[in-house]
Amino acid sequence: MTGSSKPETIVLHAGYRADPTTGSVAVPLYQTTSYQFRDTQHAADLFALKELGNIYTRLMNPTNDVLEQRVAALDGGVAAVAVGSGQAATTFSILNIAQAGDNIVSSTDLYGGTWNLFANTFKQMGIEVRFADPTDPENFRRLTDDKTRAYYAETLPNPKLQVFPIREVANIGDEFGIPLIIDNTAAPVLCRPIDHGASIVMYSTTKFIAGHGTSVGGIVIDSGKFDWEKHAKRFPLLNEPDPSYHGAVWTQAVKPIGPVAYAIKLRCTMLRDLGAAASPFNSFQTIQGMETLPLRMERHCENANTVAEFLSTHPKVTKVIHPSMQDGESRRRADTYLKGGYGSLMGFELSGGKSAGETFINSLEMFYHVANIGDTRSLAIHPATTTHSQLSEKDRLSSGVTDGYVRLSIGIEHIDDILADLKQALDKA
Ligand code: PLP
Repeated sequence: MTGSSKPETIVLHAGYRADPTTGSVAVPLYQTTSYQFRDTQHAADLFALKELGNIYTRLMNPTNDVLEQRVAALDGGVAAVAVGSGQAATTFSILNIAQAGDNIVSSTDLYGGTWNLFANTFKQMGIEVRFADPTDPENFRRLTDDKTRAYYAETLPNPKLQVFPIREVANIGDEFGIPLIIDNTAAPVLCRPIDHGASIVMYSTTKFIAGHGTSVGGIVIDSGKFDWEKHAKRFPLLNEPDPSYHGAVWTQAVKPIGPVAYAIKLRCTMLRDLGAAASPFNSFQTIQGMETLPLRMERHCENANTVAEFLSTHPKVTKVIHPSMQDGESRRRADTYLKGGYGSLMGFELSGGKSAGETFINSLEMFYHVANIGDTRSLAIHPATTTHSQLSEKDRLSSGVTDGYVRLSIGIEHIDDILADLKQALDKA
């Protein structure tokens, strides 16, 4: 590793240099479930965490390890744990520190899958999620009490695409000793939430990080900056003997390794017990995609800015939702937290309402009509008849999805072809 702090170099070199036995320059795919122990002492030391090393692929894998080191380096973290999906990353990031009877405070502006997990599944598990409108960061303080274990938010949540006030909420968390967990799925490279005070960052690597739309995956990054020991009363899961690991106290057990208690516990308990392991093949694919992530983000953002300008002057478009089109506090937050572009997600409203939205989508020739974001290809969906169709009209409108709202994820095709496809579909809508 070169030790570079530049994203373009990190994605090619962090965590791996030519394979010592074969000289392989590409990161090898270690498609194995298990690892031969040298002898019984070696095996015992690995299980007792006296020595770090490979035991079983549900817990760790050398291909996953390169991805983990690369993503941790990209975001300025000390360690990362790759898992089977973005949903698993969100789930583990919270279950690692919260149990029945606890609560977390989350932004209202969330991916629908996360909303369901928080409002329903966590509730069934006895973890209360209190929802705070991020327009006013003080809402997080108002909902905090002795049982609050984390704040949670997305950097650039769709459909509103209003950047989250990371530093403002992290500062409130500092006062109480509460870590801020940020889902940075929509803004890799553009934003490094740890630089703005976040303690934990997670991604659905399924989206921009992998880019090619071949592999579902997720990752949780530990900044190493949160002092779990100082706030021992709030975090018993990290500071009291863990009966599932021969009474280990995680903050003490990892001291010789570094400030990685959160990451090590997540690997040793969440992956061991809940089992949503990352597939090495998917990690291999994600590593290939990630090599071009900074370059792709540049082009995604450049194309998206041009599309936003084009749409904003189109007679059938009443509103364009993209940070480049915002002003006031939303724009200030976008300019503070996003560097090098405003992301490739965008929404717009058609004057013709629901039927115009449907006609527009059905008329697209190059854009794919899918429930996904962050692919190299341009994507579109009409949320009112798909992703948000199960919500009541009131809830749908308050989430920012009007009848004529269309969501775009602008890809890296030539801008002329992107504009031509949008133009011919708008002509019919
Ligand atoms: N977070 C965000 C912002 C997402 O958009 C998604 C998926 O769309 C997820 C998390 C969940 O990721 P995955 O689909 O990899 O489980």
